[in-house]
Amino acid sequence: MTAASAQRAQELRGLLNTAAHAYYVLDAPVMEDPVYDRLYRELLELESADPSLVTVDSPTQRVGGTPAEGFSSVRHRIGLLSLDNAFNAEELGAWYGRLLRVLDREPSEGQPRPALAMVGELKIDGNALALSYENGVLVRAATRGDGEQGEDITANVRTIGSVPLRLQLDQPPAWLEVRGEAFIPDGVFDGINADRQQRGEALFANPRNACAGTLRQLDPKVVAARRLDFFAYTLHLPDDWQGQRPTSQWDSLQWLRDAGFKVNPNAELLPDLDAVEAFFNSWDGGRRQLDYATDGVVVKLDNLRLQDAAGFTQKAPRWAIALKYPAEEAPSKLLRLTCQVGRTGVITPVAEFEAVPLAGTSVSRATLHNADRLDELDLHAGDTIVVRKAGEIIPEVVRVLKELRPTSAERLQLPHTCPECGSTLVREAGEAATRCINSSCPAILRGALRHWVSKGALDVDGLGSKLIEQLVDRGLVQSIADLYRLDAALLSSLERMGQKSAENLVSALAASRQQGWARQLYGLGIHHVGEVNAKALAATFPDADLLQTAACNAPESITAVFGIGDEIAQSLQQWFANPSNLQLLNGLREQGFSLALSADEQRRAEAASSERHLSGSTFVLTGTLPTLSRSQAKELIEAAGGKVSGSVSKKTSYVVAGDEAGSKLTKAESLGLTILDETGLQALLGSPQSA
Ligand code: NAD
Repeated sequence: MTAASAQRAQELRGLLNTAAHAYYVLDAPVMEDPVYDRLYRELLELESADPSLVTVDSPTQRVGGTPAEGFSSVRHRIGLLSLDNAFNAEELGAWYGRLLRVLDREPSEGQPRPALAMVGELKIDGNALALSYENGVLVRAATRGDGEQGEDITANVRTIGSVPLRLQLDQPPAWLEVRGEAFIPDGVFDGINADRQQRGEALFANPRNACAGTLRQLDPKVVAARRLDFFAYTLHLPDDWQGQRPTSQWDSLQWLRDAGFKVNPNAELLPDLDAVEAFFNSWDGGRRQLDYATDGVVVKLDNLRLQDAAGFTQKAPRWAIALKYPAEEAPSKLLRLTCQVGRTGVITPVAEFEAVPLAGTSVSRATLHNADRLDELDLHAGDTIVVRKAGEIIPEVVRVLKELRPTSAERLQLPHTCPECGSTLVREAGEAATRCINSSCPAILRGALRHWVSKGALDVDGLGSKLIEQLVDRGLVQSIADLYRLDAALLSSLERMGQKSAENLVSALAASRQQGWARQLYGLGIHHVGEVNAKALAATFPDADLLQTAACNAPESITAVFGIGDEIAQSLQQWFANPSNLQLLNGLREQGFSLALSADEQRRAEAASSERHLSGSTFVLTGTLPTLSRSQAKELIEAAGGKVSGSVSKKTSYVVAGDEAGSKLTKAESLGLTILDETGLQALLGSPQSA
């Protein structure tokens, strides 16, 4: 036993026992189920590597929780155990191997494994109940409790409509026991929580806890109002009963149905493990459409005689296993905090942790977004963190299990200097982002180069991240313009670059000079100037000089562009104010970039604007319109191809006048121009024919 594993086992026992009490007894879990499962699994692995770590109070040695107070406790006629879990096909295969071994059915060397028929049932995420019938009449209903003793909740269970109070059997046995799952349908659960919220009561974490809490209500009327449901899945008959007795789990389900129980219809008799896997996979998506929660598939050996022969471990039957669907949340051990420097210099803290399987993939890193999030999480070195990846979403660190924090662990914070270039990082007041502002920082340069060659920008093939890294690290490229100075001889001397690919890259770079102005502008990577904005700006400011003059001297002409706001105007102004950016533009010009609309772009722009029905018309707005604001009216006119001007002249096509229109209206009247009210404008905007 190493001191470290003994200490970890002790920590885990403490945490899991606290969580199990909160879950089973208080019906108020303190952690997510998958997190509990993973920590449980870690303890189990420590114990099986070193059995001397097993203690009597270990949660691995116990089923469920102790019966709660307030109900009399009852001893089960037959133990009501838990189920072992498998989280993937290998674990399922390992369980099957163990089962064959206890049944003495292992194949001889080189032979295939014998196939045993199994029943696949959905694992309903509710609460196990033990129902006792005497001469066909329900006499007792109990919770699972610790597996040997449960709570007597007969009065409450009598209110569940799907639990028969008398069985549909002509000659019932003197006694029989039925096990199954009580559950709360999702819709009912939502209603219960909505009620509780209204009354200011604590919400139930999930339907399973709501069901457990309901079954332990002291007032059966409350239980009745909560509309619980019940699926039966196990049958125990007296050995000496002479009636017709099922010999398989599959037949037992039918027997239960015939006796009047509700049995989940989503079960299948499966000939072998492949069929089990196919059944499991087939329910992965569809189970979410059911109106009750499920968290896996229970696989049971079909033949009851073989079940008997396989028997039980201390906690669970050997002849069944719960195959669980991949968790979207799991705990992991934080290994280190690293920082990424983006192309705009923004520092993103990243948590690196021990790899965990999450929603089907292995995950070992998650972004922490910014310094605020890092502070909020309060991460310390060596912390156990809860990581989540719901569906396709990027992994995130949800929270920290502080109870498992190593003593005197150091709090993790963002560094003060850039991990790439060592310059001091800055965070401006009111900004969430911390930045490196050294424009020659290699990380910023790498990001800028990746962006320049990306699909939406200059779209250069053959210049991947690895190559960019080499070019920057060796000082061969210090700005985007330097890319165009590279020759094939130099490129082919780099790692993993052949002569042919070097030549291809040189020609791809040469060809990229012909890309349009909009792509070049987007490729410069100016903050907030995405593909769409770059197109709009390029159409209005047909070259870099015009854009620069507008950005520096007339920002209002930038915001006059449809869809462009102050934030972008400001960002352009800042960009052009930076001498190293002007140097970059000159460098590009030297390399043959016109930084202007290409003939092709010009033709397309003209064609597009002539297609819009108000192109060529000039509008003047005056007074207050009944529903449209000035800027809304302007946007609508421009979107239809029209221009909005501030002063009335003979060239004005329309004057749109609202309440309290001033001298512009008078002038328009004197010039005999067409005057529209808002309705007239809307009609013009709405109908191309009328223009
Ligand atoms: P379990 O829920 O993993 O599986 C056993 C149970 O499955 C059975 O007792 C039965 O009630 C149920 N079941 C559903 N459908 C079934 C079917 N068709 N056939 C047979 N059984 C079926 O094990 P458990 O011992 O009840 O509970 C352990 C689980 O409870 C853990 O996996 C964990 O997720 C959760 N738990 C969570 C916390 C927490 O803090 N969040 C604490 C303790 C336990």
